[in-house]
Amino acid sequence: MNPTVTRAGDPLPGGPPYDVAVVGAGVVGTAIARELARHRLRTALVEASDDIGNGTSKANTAILHTGFDAVPGSLEARLVREGQRRLTAYAAGTGIPVERVGALLVAWDEEQLAALPALLAKAERNGYHAARLLDAQETAAREPHLGPGALGALEIPDEAVVCPWTPPLAFATQAVRAGVHLHLDCPVRHLAYDDGVHTLTTGRGPLRARLLINAAGLHADEIDRKLGHDTFTVTPRRGQLIVFDKLARDLVRHILLPVPTAAGKGVLVAPTVFGNVLLGPTAEELDDKTATGSTAEGLALLREKGRRILPRLLDEEVTAVYAGLRAATGHEDYRIRAVPEQRYIAVGGIRSTGLTASMAIAAHVTSLLPRAGLDPGEPAELPPLTMPSLGERDDRPYLRADLIARDPAYGTVVCHCERVTAGEIRDALHSTLPPATAGGLARRTRAGNGRCQGFHCGAAIRARVEEARP
Ligand SMILES: Cc1cc2nc3c(=O)[nH]c(=O)nc-3n(C[C@H](O)[C@H](O)[C@H](O)COP(=O)(O)OP(=O)(O)OC[C@H]3O[C@@H](n4cnc5c(N)ncnc54)[C@H](O)[C@@H]3O)c2cc1C
Repeated sequence: MNPTVTRAGDPLPGGPPYDVAVVGAGVVGTAIARELARHRLRTALVEASDDIGNGTSKANTAILHTGFDAVPGSLEARLVREGQRRLTAYAAGTGIPVERVGALLVAWDEEQLAALPALLAKAERNGYHAARLLDAQETAAREPHLGPGALGALEIPDEAVVCPWTPPLAFATQAVRAGVHLHLDCPVRHLAYDDGVHTLTTGRGPLRARLLINAAGLHADEIDRKLGHDTFTVTPRRGQLIVFDKLARDLVRHILLPVPTAAGKGVLVAPTVFGNVLLGPTAEELDDKTATGSTAEGLALLREKGRRILPRLLDEEVTAVYAGLRAATGHEDYRIRAVPEQRYIAVGGIRSTGLTASMAIAAHVTSLLPRAGLDPGEPAELPPLTMPSLGERDDRPYLRADLIARDPAYGTVVCHCERVTAGEIRDALHSTLPPATAGGLARRTRAGNGRCQGFHCGAAIRARVEEARP
């Protein structure tokens, strides 16, 4: 079956209404589309942007959470726990890099130290039983470069880091290969529900579906209101981050978490699967859903916090800064609900754990279909998928003599900082879901993401993207 992927300028298919339309192709919407692809349903995945995973899903901290610190009994706690299990297994099967580095939640004063046993008890209530308390000596032995004054820590050995970009790409690839129609450059502007059919007025014309799933991230509240509801309001909560050069990687062994406060989880230091070190994120309540810029104040705050956690990190070179917006709603839980009389499922408030929980959210949403008036029938297995691994620890193509002997393009390095080859760039540009921009190519290959940020390879990369345009 030829995948159906339409973009700006392409007509939307006519014919009978889709069984399901999913609005939003972030990590949540693509995971849902993949799950729906297992059923005999005609499904459309409708995305405003020119790529999948181009909203909040492209700018997070990339931690595969255990859910040890979730609100016990909440839907989020259950779906994060289950999501971690599902995504870990899926990553192993598809070649998505995951490193189980573990986390240390470090106490820097007596008050924080006193809070650790309650956090341990919370982890237990969340069904996570491997956490344990470390004293100051053990903490220092685990993290030799930690700043002075750490009094102890809670160790969470199963916290992991994951590639944040490949999961939505893998989900969407499997979905479209199994028959889901992906419509990019297709913002949903108006909605009407009449006679059992939703009509989505999009920037590219009307599209009809018998059931609507709203996975529009920061804009999920607006979609909800278009259907006459007023159940949640998304307040973007910006998280700014600093990416340190790979030479900093040996300074840190675990994800270093602060003791959380009412204002959020706080600033952490974490290794990445790409071999860098992250410092962040901030937590800033804003009212602009497009404010993804970094600020001098935000970066200064991160540096101040980072100096306490890992002083030597601040001497290392910075590769990049970025910011993402969490879809906060003022509620301490996800806002997922089915509205049977409108054949509608809202998937809102997926704030700071959506990458981890994505596959479990998808399974949960699919389990709500009968309540929303659609019997999806029995699921089938999808054909397996192997994704190119972007992990620094994996055998990247430039290292593989066998691959280079078969195809010299894998021996021709285009991005020297990240050692991305012409072969990988060609493969991405001719994949099931090719990128439309150099940014999209970077998320598929890491080309341009390194120390020089594309200063040397940028022109060559952009030329390749242009050349591949239909
Ligand atoms: C700083 C930060 C750190 C984080 N760290 C972690 C972490 O370590 N681990 C973790 O598990 N999670 C983390 N998260 C959370 C995670 O990134 C999010 O929960 C997840 O990306 C949300 O995915 P989504 O699909 O709901 O939203 P998005 O990725 O924003 O996708 C929504 C999509 O809907 C589209 N859309 C919106 N309106 C319309 C419309 N009208 N028509 C068509 N399309 C529309 C958008 O273009 C977008 O592509 C973090 C988030 C932030 C901001």
